[in-house]
Amino acid sequence: MARIQLDNISHSYDQQRGEATEFAVKGVDHVWEQGGAYALLGPSGCGKSTMLNIISGLITPTHGRVLFDDRDVTALTPAQRNIAQVFQFPVIYDSQSVYWNLAFPLRNRGIAAHDVDRRVRKIASVLDLTDSLDQRAQRLTSDAKQKISLGRALVREDVGAILFDEPLTTIDPHLKWQLRSTLRQLHREFDFTMVYVTHDQTEALTFADTVVVMHDGEMVQVGTPEELFERPEHVFVGYFIGSPGMNLLPAEVSGNQAQIAGHAIALSRSYPAMKKGGRVEIGVRPEFVALSRGGDGVPVRIERVDDLGRIKIVRTELGGQPFNVVIDGDKEVPADDARIGLDMQRVHVYADGRIVEGEVV
Ligand code: ADP
Ligand code: MG
Repeated sequence: MARIQLDNISHSYDQQRGEATEFAVKGVDHVWEQGGAYALLGPSGCGKSTMLNIISGLITPTHGRVLFDDRDVTALTPAQRNIAQVFQFPVIYDSQSVYWNLAFPLRNRGIAAHDVDRRVRKIASVLDLTDSLDQRAQRLTSDAKQKISLGRALVREDVGAILFDEPLTTIDPHLKWQLRSTLRQLHREFDFTMVYVTHDQTEALTFADTVVVMHDGEMVQVGTPEELFERPEHVFVGYFIGSPGMNLLPAEVSGNQAQIAGHAIALSRSYPAMKKGGRVEIGVRPEFVALSRGGDGVPVRIERVDDLGRIKIVRTELGGQPFNVVIDGDKEVPADDARIGLDMQRVHVYADGRIVEGEVV
């Protein structure tokens, strides 16, 4: 079990070819607390696998240090770091039995035979592999093979952390849900530090207590699912989390006044320190906007309504920008003179993509 600290980590794949110019991971400082269940979430290519491989030791970072329980492990191999890692595709011995595959990581470490047997049977039972223990792995379905991969990571009691790199991508949807709950259950039971990489927000939000959002090589926010939803610290988090994502409108902000598309809006906080010249935006989630017919809200043009039953997503246009509103499924959509009202406590101001702390007025 380990507390894993990333100290100013950057990585460039260019270094072999000479000077590092492009960075896949940029100046990351982060602590993965011992026993935490983390999701590392971000779109394809943002640097998740690179980050995970730096933690496990498959990659040595160009800059920075990795510390396990305050010990510098940057130069150590994965085996020396005592980490288990599961990849997208099964890594198993096809010609051996399921039992052999699960026992291997333990036998390899000289664990006594009766302890090996106890652990193998326990993990096989949790993953529903008991009936296949004597079969050769090559006879099994790809889903079952991936379960063996998970089992090989989970079978050891002494690992510092278990890292999962999109392990359920190719798994059948129903089984996927089931395996995710199994991982959660094992996490509670054994107190492993778990880092689970995914590009799927639902997967991240249901698996993790803490979600780390990556964008373009940086960690842009670390928080609970609720924090990411209520208060995105970066416009990317607003846009990437939620369905549809947060609305962003170019704005001019001065004190507690905002101008959006020619309309003045009184903000709930004041922003005296806005620096001039940067890109300023107002962000508000579609769930925190009311829609009315007439009244003193900002006029919008309704373009389309997606009726999802429980809710309706109303696609509107405001000052040439798309603007989404989510309303209850049983609410009427205004036939004309549609206006929006913002829940001002849940409106955020962003400068060059990052949230600006307002002052209470
Ligand atoms: P993710 O796992 O989030 O999809 P990766 O960590 O795999 O992202 O990739 C981050 C960036 O690094 C991407 O631009 C990718 O093209 C680049 N990259 C990844 N692996 C290599 C490699 N072995 N050599 C060169 N560039 C790589
Ligand atoms: Mg990846």
